[in-house]
Amino acid sequence: MAGRHFLFVPGPTNVPDRVQRAMHRAMEDHRSSAFPELPRSIFPDLQRVFRTTGGQPFVFPSTGTGMWEAALVNTCSPGDRLLACRYGQFSHLFIECAQRLGLDVQVIDVPWGEGAPADRIEAALRADHGRAIKGVLVVHNETATGVTSDVGAVREAIERARHPALLYVDGVSSIGSLDFRMDEWGVDLAITGSQKGFMLPAGLGIVCASQRALDRQRTAACRRVFFDFADMQKANATGYFPYTPALSLLFGLREALDMLLEEGMEHVHARHRRLADGVRLAVRAWGLELCARHPSEYSDTVSAIMVPARVSGGDVIDVAFRRYNLALGAGLGQLAGKLFRIGHLGDLNELMVLGALAGTEMAMRDAGLDVAPGAGVAAAAEYYRATAAPLPRRGGAGPVEPSTARAAPARVSSAPDEHDADAVGAAS
Ligand code: PLP
Repeated sequence: MAGRHFLFVPGPTNVPDRVQRAMHRAMEDHRSSAFPELPRSIFPDLQRVFRTTGGQPFVFPSTGTGMWEAALVNTCSPGDRLLACRYGQFSHLFIECAQRLGLDVQVIDVPWGEGAPADRIEAALRADHGRAIKGVLVVHNETATGVTSDVGAVREAIERARHPALLYVDGVSSIGSLDFRMDEWGVDLAITGSQKGFMLPAGLGIVCASQRALDRQRTAACRRVFFDFADMQKANATGYFPYTPALSLLFGLREALDMLLEEGMEHVHARHRRLADGVRLAVRAWGLELCARHPSEYSDTVSAIMVPARVSGGDVIDVAFRRYNLALGAGLGQLAGKLFRIGHLGDLNELMVLGALAGTEMAMRDAGLDVAPGAGVAAAAEYYRATAAPLPRRGGAGPVEPSTARAAPARVSSAPDEHDADAVGAAS
């Protein structure tokens, strides 16, 4: 098919040309005297993205799933009790990973479409008089439902209960895209992979461990070989890895970190918010609803869009892919067929999102959904115009040209009854 593929699944995301070029190089000796320069430059920049000064980042040839395992086996002993919230397919799989490692998981089930309930976590920890619960597991951004949980509120709940449990946070579809504050939120194990906010191919698992988590290693009796933090700490201290590192991906990571930090993490977060707001206005213009129930939990990296019962989300995805070269995400687990997902994270700008919205609109109409042609695209496009940054005068210095920009609303709701006056004005 001529033209570019439109990759709008919530990971893997587009790999920028700059990152592709950085990875396209000859292999070299990972035991040479020059090699340590690369990992030594990467670790402090990872700390900046995770927003930690004391946390130690580990980079494994792996994926997010591997980092669930690494975080758990380095800090737990067989039979340890964990408290976990389940509100989507990835929080479900995180729990399953812990169970299959022989851990005893106390599950708080939450309707899919809602986030981590800090009050229920606090109640469960208060009821744990013997302090048997060793850790709390939370998925920051549940990619299956498009819900972002308030990790700071979870930490406050743990503090209020005066409980010593470690806080494990899956940031696979948030870190590098959404505001993430490892130190401020008291996150002990922050888990992610390379193929989403870091704009790389899949293949690296990244986990950042707090000092408290590293201390737990000494008593943690789960068996570990490949994922042993201690081996990694020993080798990383000299600038090396305990085995052959994924060199190309490390060169790509170096470049991706440069791109993120050149843009500035606050700008990266704001860009994701603004692009997501445009998508949410499109959803509203289509007369559809998000799976996420509360506007304060709407995800800025993925929107899960419910389809009416008479239509299958799978049909929308199928026609988008086969007819329009557009990849959308499927409904997972109990949401299979009931929705489709638009991933809006990574290396994206307004026109890329508008292209995806146009393709989604066409595919929805082809699949039998009665959405007004152009409605979503128009809503998002007008929002992007109205919130565009002011343009500097042509030719460099001088006053800024008048702009159409207005302050963006806090977070655009997709629900018609929760209209934000600014957002509606911008979209009309
Ligand atoms: N956690 C979340 C929130 C995810 O979205 C994913 C994958 O999409 C995973 C974990 C699993 O990551 P991986 O596929 O890199 O193993």
